[in-house]
Amino acid sequence: MCPEALLLIDSHAHIDSERYADDRPAMLARAWEAGVGVVLAIGIGDGPEQMHQALDICRQFNGQPNLPRLYASAGIYPHNTHEANEAALAKLDGLLAEPEVIACGEIGLDYYHEGAPHDVQCQGLIRQLEIAAARKRPILIHCRPKDGATDAWDDLFEILEAHWQPTGLGGVMHCFGAGWEQARRSLDMGFLVSFAGNLTYPKAQPLRDVAAKMPLDGILVETDAPWLAPAPNRGKRNEPAWVLRTALVLEELLGVERGEIAVATTKNFSRLFHLQADVGN
Ligand SMILES: [Zn+2]
Repeated sequence: MCPEALLLIDSHAHIDSERYADDRPAMLARAWEAGVGVVLAIGIGDGPEQMHQALDICRQFNGQPNLPRLYASAGIYPHNTHEANEAALAKLDGLLAEPEVIACGEIGLDYYHEGAPHDVQCQGLIRQLEIAAARKRPILIHCRPKDGATDAWDDLFEILEAHWQPTGLGGVMHCFGAGWEQARRSLDMGFLVSFAGNLTYPKAQPLRDVAAKMPLDGILVETDAPWLAPAPNRGKRNEPAWVLRTALVLEELLGVERGEIAVATTKNFSRLFHLQADVGN
């Protein structure tokens, strides 16, 4: 079997989390053994002060044998946008200039949790879109509406249509949890839709129904580790090795052969970020 056929990409993992402080090298080795060839390390930290940590981890581990290739993002999370001052935005701009930092994110709108007011989130998002556009970096979007509402999605699409779509740079709807309408609009805007471990949860049938309609060239898989561990490890600390569980559920939903999700998502990731086909170490 060609190993590249099974190469999976975890398109979203917070591997700078303190929860990996004791076993980060072993955690990355487990990912490699599970067939994960690339991990995109999300650079949001607990706020802009830690935005550089994902890049630091890339530089620490890249080049070591039998570990996934690491890339980084940098961005200011919606509920940290009250910290998006000129210094933080300059730091973001500097990070996006680094070759390993291939994406700006996760950025977006979160109306589910209490935190930064909506207008602060919108302004923080728009400023970051301008910086990402100037650096020609695709974006990683976090969008979470209030339960039963589409408020955050409605505001998000309005902002992206005005401030992002004209760039043609595209992006990723990370940890997608909305309906077909939002999935279709995302695809129409040139975004990839990324599924996480919550796709495997018993109550997620509506999300599985959306996933079953997705075109193979529009999807990614991710862990959002250390959160959202897929079944049967729900509730535990998540890690990139477990992205395989989500890929297997997607294979079933889309009725494709074993390994096809790995091939498709790796191709999609490489296309979005203009990486070479062989993105492994
Ligand atoms: Zn995340």
